[in-house]
Amino acid sequence: MTSPSLQITGLTHAFGDRTALDQVGFEVRPGRLTGFVGANGAGKTTTMRAIVGVLAPDAGEIAFGGRPMTLEVRRRIGYMPEERGLYPKMKVAEQLVYLARILGVAKDQAQDRADGLLEALGLTDRRDDMLHTLSLGNQQRVQVAAALIHEPDLLILDEPFSGLDPIAMDAMAERLRERADAGVPVLFSSHQLDLVERLCDDLVLIHQGRVVAAGAARALREERAGRRYRVEVGGAPAWRPALAGMTVIDAGAAGTLVDLDETADPQALLAAAQAAGPVAHFSRTLPSLADLFAEVVR
Ligand code: ATP
Repeated sequence: MTSPSLQITGLTHAFGDRTALDQVGFEVRPGRLTGFVGANGAGKTTTMRAIVGVLAPDAGEIAFGGRPMTLEVRRRIGYMPEERGLYPKMKVAEQLVYLARILGVAKDQAQDRADGLLEALGLTDRRDDMLHTLSLGNQQRVQVAAALIHEPDLLILDEPFSGLDPIAMDAMAERLRERADAGVPVLFSSHQLDLVERLCDDLVLIHQGRVVAAGAARALREERAGRRYRVEVGGAPAWRPALAGMTVIDAGAAGTLVDLDETADPQALLAAAQAAGPVAHFSRTLPSLADLFAEVVR
């Protein structure tokens, strides 16, 4: 069953005289992984806390499927807070079953899900250990399992990838993709821009409490595709054209990267490449998420 989308409009909040959120608005669509990106203090955690209802914002609306959030709907959210809040002296599997039971899951089902999640996250051999005896990364994996244990209709995860090793990152990414594919809207924050770029369908970029870009990741990058071209000339891997209005950024085995100013004609670049040898590749490159981020927060 596909969940509806989460819509946030006009979310505004101040802590004393410090404005943390200023008219924040965006949508988290079902079946999509949405990356929430912003510098330290940009307002990500505050937004997420407002969504899950642990913070009452000064103004703004949070709707799920066009209806204001109710307590009932909020119980169906899987939330991974920034300050991880599990029970250090409880056994891992027991803790997951306990949390599931609080959220209304039947006992047998809770046990099956806990076992399934522990297996998927590579924690089966730690199921009967007390949480505090696990390494921080493994505790983080348990925290993810806790957010997923009741098969939520909406997932809100505050930096779920921080502190994970590459294997755990892959396992986490797979779990998130799986939930998104099942029709759940998934919002997660991260400072790892390469990872967000690789995983996310949609992006929300926040800067000093304001959303500065939001929408489909590919479209956002294409909108800002500048005039950087990548050319590969067969037999001349380090080809460096010297043409008016063009700056060579890099030239090596992966081809030549050239920035064109407004006066330069890409056709002139192509013609020069053809004159240098057989052209194996010629394209305008998309900015990376890091480029996009640097541009919108400037
Ligand atoms: P980070 O990437 O560092 O986790 P963030 O984007 O999650 O940052 P928030 O934690 O939402 O940012 O903080 C937004 C702003 O609100 C910051 O200026 C922060 O100092 C302030 N703030 C957040 N929580 C509180 C609080 N409980 N009391 C006072 N100010 C707060």
